[in-house]
Amino acid sequence: MVQEGVTRPARVCVIGGGPAGLAAAEVISAAGCAVQVVERMPSYGRKLLMAGRGGLNISHSEAADRLLTRYGSAAPWLAPALAAWTTQDIRDWMAGLGQDSFVGSSGRVFPTAMKASPLLRAWLERLRSQGVVLHTRTEWTGWNPQGHPTFTPTQEGACLPPELAPPYVPDAMVLALGGASWPRLGSTGAWVPVVQGQGAEVAPLQPSNCGFQVRWSDTLRARFAGTPLKPVALSFAGRTVRGEVVVTATGLEGGALYALSAALRAHVAAHGSATLLLDLRPDLTEQVLAARLASVRPRESLSNRLRKALRLPPLAVALLHEAGPVPTTPQALAARLKALPITLHQPQPLARAISTAGGVMHTACTPTFMLSAKPGVFVAGEMLDWEAPTGGYLLHGCLATGRAAAKGVLQWLQHPHA
Ligand SMILES: Cc1cc2nc3c(=O)[nH]c(=O)nc-3n(C[C@H](O)[C@H](O)[C@H](O)COP(=O)(O)OP(=O)(O)OC[C@H]3O[C@@H](n4cnc5c(N)ncnc54)[C@H](O)[C@@H]3O)c2cc1C
Repeated sequence: MVQEGVTRPARVCVIGGGPAGLAAAEVISAAGCAVQVVERMPSYGRKLLMAGRGGLNISHSEAADRLLTRYGSAAPWLAPALAAWTTQDIRDWMAGLGQDSFVGSSGRVFPTAMKASPLLRAWLERLRSQGVVLHTRTEWTGWNPQGHPTFTPTQEGACLPPELAPPYVPDAMVLALGGASWPRLGSTGAWVPVVQGQGAEVAPLQPSNCGFQVRWSDTLRARFAGTPLKPVALSFAGRTVRGEVVVTATGLEGGALYALSAALRAHVAAHGSATLLLDLRPDLTEQVLAARLASVRPRESLSNRLRKALRLPPLAVALLHEAGPVPTTPQALAARLKALPITLHQPQPLARAISTAGGVMHTACTPTFMLSAKPGVFVAGEMLDWEAPTGGYLLHGCLATGRAAAKGVLQWLQHPHA
């Protein structure tokens, strides 16, 4: 693309080589712009690769209106981007990169290869073939007093790539710098003061899809730290999620808990703690539990009764003891096993969370994800102020906003003063 009154292709700099940045680079380079992608790590897409370790859940197959609800209060903001890049679009795009996909039994979408590496390899190859220049080990550090982006090599003694050496003045930029979870994979949240310094509002970064601290007894911690428990159902604030949890030395982790983490985090922030209810036998009703408990000889020890009647593992029995005096009648015990209270305290640190809540606020952006305070600079991906549960919604949101920001760049290059 050539800007009005300019004879060279428009220059666009994308910062961040994660899914959002690469999605933006793909759209912008396909339109004929000269795109450089700048990544501070030695390679691209490290968090994407990590996400692919247990199977890359890249989207969800549920109906679009249901999928949109997963983005909570950010849904109206993200709706146009998600409508323009649907689950089927993601599957077609993957197929175009030679990566077939399938819908798992839970409705989640995965590449057939499961891993992220073949997809990422093919994606980078496509970007190179579209003329994108990919830099690694180069950090964007902000803007100089003239408003030009500044970069620094992350390797001691290294020089900046000549394409980025001053006076490199791109016509537009996309920031896709990620959140601040798992900082060793590259995204650290160091961009927050830089972006705030330009006058853009940033909601505080917080852990999302995260574990919570629990004050376990020494006995439980010593015997069960690292032990998973499934199937369980967790309930909080009227929502129930089935799945797995893992007891750790400092608290509780696991997919079922992550799904409730936004509501739990808000409650803990307001009240200091939150009471989670754990159903230790979600597949059986309270009445069935009570009948089975009543059928076991009362002379047996509690552990034996619970093991024999309900096949509850030792961790479940230990959790029952943690929750205070154990009810004695089968009916009361059954009720407790269906709603075992666990007091959660602070969320685990952001560095250990799957994703980040908070970020560049809706009010700081135009509808095409341009920073109102910094015309020509667009933002995408997890650094925006939205959160979603696991289930493919995170990557879907990052890809969709990356592409939407890219389209915003193309529009803006055509009509910079519109
Ligand atoms: C363990 C784990 C498992 C996950 N599993 C899933 C899953 O199955 N499904 C799902 O949907 N989501 C999953 N996620 C979340 C998903 O990976 C992220 O939401 C997604 O990668 C965010 O994309 P992004 O492009 O916005 O940011 P990132 O992927 O974080 O990329 C940002 C990039 O910007 C670079 N960068 C940052 N600052 C600078 C700078 N100043 N200069 C240059 N480069 C910079 C970083 O090095 C990084 O490479 C998982 C996350 C984790 C941690």
